[in-house]
Amino acid sequence: MSVARALAGRIAELARALDGRAVRLMEVCGSHTMAIARHGIRDMLPGNVRLLSGPGCPVCVTEPGYVDAALALARRGVGIATFGDMLRVPGSDGSLASARAEGAVVRAVYSPARALELAAAEPDRPWVMLAVGFETTAAPLAALALEIRRRGVGNLALLCAPKRVPPALDALVADPELAVDGFLCPAHVSAIIGARAYEPYARDHGRPCVVASFEPLDVLHGLAGLLEQIVAGEARVDNRYARVVRPEGNPAARRVMAEVFEAADARWRGLGTLPRSGLRLRESFADLDAERVHGVAVQPGREPPGCRCGEVLAGRTEPEDCPLFDRTCTPAHPVGPCMVSSEGSCAAAWKYRGSQGRKS
Ligand code: SF4
Repeated sequence: MSVARALAGRIAELARALDGRAVRLMEVCGSHTMAIARHGIRDMLPGNVRLLSGPGCPVCVTEPGYVDAALALARRGVGIATFGDMLRVPGSDGSLASARAEGAVVRAVYSPARALELAAAEPDRPWVMLAVGFETTAAPLAALALEIRRRGVGNLALLCAPKRVPPALDALVADPELAVDGFLCPAHVSAIIGARAYEPYARDHGRPCVVASFEPLDVLHGLAGLLEQIVAGEARVDNRYARVVRPEGNPAARRVMAEVFEAADARWRGLGTLPRSGLRLRESFADLDAERVHGVAVQPGREPPGCRCGEVLAGRTEPEDCPLFDRTCTPAHPVGPCMVSSEGSCAAAWKYRGSQGRKS
């Protein structure tokens, strides 16, 4: 019997032990969302086990006003270095890809360090690195800020919107309508913040938490772990990715982040403004803050008309329930960020659920 079949059997056995109770489990990581869709894991689950996607895609939770600020910079000749997923995310008035087509200097980078090379290659042009991501990305962004300082680079700043995962979990457990029974916790983020970061959700809120990688067997193993706790009436943190995630996370990465960033309130698409959920540059790094250097401000912005990304990200609706899904909104012509990002729930549903997911 294959391992996958054995795990599916174990999940079915645990689901039966729930005696008809329906449970809702949330995957908090966009990579889990994509793996679950790609490998048809939803279809393997018994009817009383429902998977919800959470706000685990950093591009998707970034508000349209951030894109507007980046567009304003690009249109005044500032070079923009960005992770590729941000290129087609719609702002209130276009995307960075459309600005690039109109002649703006916008470069996709795989690593923040590449922004240093771009700035060095064009020393007369001001450059801005779009600093978007969760703790996994915040660490290399902090390292970039330190390197800019060390090298004395004068033409590179950061437009900051990194976000912290735990405050999003705080908002999710506080939402009585959502009623999540357990969290499949992220893999890479947990490598930075550590498995212990989830203890308050288990101890204080009674929500089982399982840290798992995003290989399909790891996801199934993680879901079985959540159900084992629910059946046993337990709520604890179970680290099933111990080959990478330590209880304390990565203290060196967190030290670098703490040197450069401080926690600040931040707006999340779908979740609103969450206390201390974002990271901003410390005052000692104000000279690298693109908002101050270039006199732009990140305002709330306008959501794409009809787009339900906010509800999708908060676990309140499924991509297929959006009236635009696979009609006016497709990966080729995305209306909202959840259809753009490689970790977006709508893109995952469109790509992997096929005719079952599409209603047209
Ligand atoms: S299908 Fe498109 S418009 Fe609808 S929620 Fe998803 S991204 Fe937004």
